[in-house]
Amino acid sequence: MFGDIPGQAPAKAFFERVLRDGTLSHAYLLTGPEGLAKTAFARELGAALVSGCGNCGACPECERARRGVHPDLHVLEREGDVWRIEQVKAIVGDLSLKPFSAARRVWVIPEIEYMNRESANKFLKSLEEPPSYVVFLLVTDRLERVLPTIRSRCQVVEFRPLSDTEVASHLLERCDVSPSAAEALARLSLGSVEKAARMAADAAGPGRREEYLKYAAAVVAGARPQDGPAPADAFIDVLTREQAEVAAEVQTDLEARLAELERQFQDKKDLKWYVEQAEERAKRETRRRQRVAAQDALDLLVSWVRDLWVVASGASDVLWNSDHRDALVEGVVATPEHYARLLGVAARTRKDLYLTIDQKLAFQALFARFEEVSTSA
Ligand SMILES: [Zn+2]
Repeated sequence: MFGDIPGQAPAKAFFERVLRDGTLSHAYLLTGPEGLAKTAFARELGAALVSGCGNCGACPECERARRGVHPDLHVLEREGDVWRIEQVKAIVGDLSLKPFSAARRVWVIPEIEYMNRESANKFLKSLEEPPSYVVFLLVTDRLERVLPTIRSRCQVVEFRPLSDTEVASHLLERCDVSPSAAEALARLSLGSVEKAARMAADAAGPGRREEYLKYAAAVVAGARPQDGPAPADAFIDVLTREQAEVAAEVQTDLEARLAELERQFQDKKDLKWYVEQAEERAKRETRRRQRVAAQDALDLLVSWVRDLWVVASGASDVLWNSDHRDALVEGVVATPEHYARLLGVAARTRKDLYLTIDQKLAFQALFARFEEVSTSA
């Protein structure tokens, strides 16, 4: 079990013990930062719970659970900006059905922080006292945003960022990277395997990290080129281009999906419903991936300032951007306190990226505050 999930030894051990001792509870809330494969974990656990074999991985039960077609394993996906009340009513209405082939019925519900009070009110009683065969596996990246009424009815299981060694060995196993690149990317990933894998793909592809770092370095140094755009604008341009590419990729997937639906459904009314669902989903996916791109860009900017701080303060910490040591040593023009102040400013932007739809504005505000800090020094 959990063979595909990197790290998370405590969570794995916890559920293995629960299954062995037969002390399964009816609701768990898996929580921890983005990019730790929590939903994949919930899916695996769900498969183990509905397959009589305990997820041997080889029998027809396991095969069905893995392909997402086991009738007793429901992996849900949010259909609106929040969990819509119709969707919640459908879950609640479905609970009274006994398992079709397993001993249990399992619901995996990701992004539970998007369940608002109105939807939660429909859900709470079922979450508190579901039929004996029901297990809920709720997932969130942001525990602080989950309604307390939901949180208090679940057993919370925490996922932790992976160690650099764990991320590096995962990269070496799954991606085409050299050992030294794996080490550097692991440090930059802040313990998220998904982020590390994105950066490994970038290193082999568009090379955006280099572009972001180049302009980040110029912004922090206060460079003002005679011609061409200001470094802050150039940085934001890289992000704008990346976000446009993301939107185009999602659009291509959507068009393929729509063509498939056209073939599948002759009934116009059915077709319309599925088309709307697919379009809504594409919109959400675009927004999510654009936000992730902005967060990755911010993390790179922060990694650069953090490394400047390390060099400026003469600390012996390992550089995150160890492949740019010379540029960092040359780039130090201010005191460690100055870089620490910039890090404080950047930390606030991280939260803004969640709240805004236009991440460009968040970066413009950030760079303006960078300038204030620099001129007041
Ligand atoms: Zn099996």
